[in-house]
Amino acid sequence: MKGSVGISLIALLALSCSVASAYDPSPLQDFCVGVNDTKLGVFVNGKFCKDPNLVKAEDFFFRIMPGNTDNPLGSQVTQVSVNEFPGLNTLGVSLARIDYAPYGLNPPHTHPRATEVLTVLEGTLMVGFVASNQNDNRLFTKVLNKGEVFIFPFGMIHFQLNVGKDDAVALSSLSSQNPGVITIAKALFGSDPLISPDVLTKAFQVDKNIIAYLQKQQWYDNNV
Ligand code: MN
Repeated sequence: MKGSVGISLIALLALSCSVASAYDPSPLQDFCVGVNDTKLGVFVNGKFCKDPNLVKAEDFFFRIMPGNTDNPLGSQVTQVSVNEFPGLNTLGVSLARIDYAPYGLNPPHTHPRATEVLTVLEGTLMVGFVASNQNDNRLFTKVLNKGEVFIFPFGMIHFQLNVGKDDAVALSSLSSQNPGVITIAKALFGSDPLISPDVLTKAFQVDKNIIAYLQKQQWYDNNV
């Protein structure tokens, strides 16, 4: 009797543990709108898998080419997510190469699905991220030289500026096969369609003309 109570207690504990640890899978894309008609949709979060018998070494190999920094930002992010490198599917990681011209900027942005670890391969970068409101929007910033590493925690707004006189190169490792990127200025002032100026005027507490000016700019996307 005593034994069976013990066993059912263990069973109950095991059950409660499995309930407590149950969770929805993390999204692997920006959105996945539900459909009722099965002919209209696919049912994967991410990509379909290739037949394992057909997989070759080439599926796990990728060559990242240097980016073209001849643009208004003087930087280019060459993303290597599951979209460019299907071998990453279901593995929860991806990478990016970032090239910077002298004084080139990778402007403030955030990754909705990943933490980033940035390693400087060449040059000198001033990097930083801003913590959430809960942490009083503290800025964490540092100048990095070749071989040095900085972390941009999940979802934090971050940036890198080449403060050296020469080109710089960084390699980013990201904790999602499809980290996504939201470039702050481009998203807010270059959305399609544009956000009502009433919203932005009040949000930024500036004159309407400033918002009109910002909304007229071409917001260059340095991510390829
Ligand atoms: Mn980033």
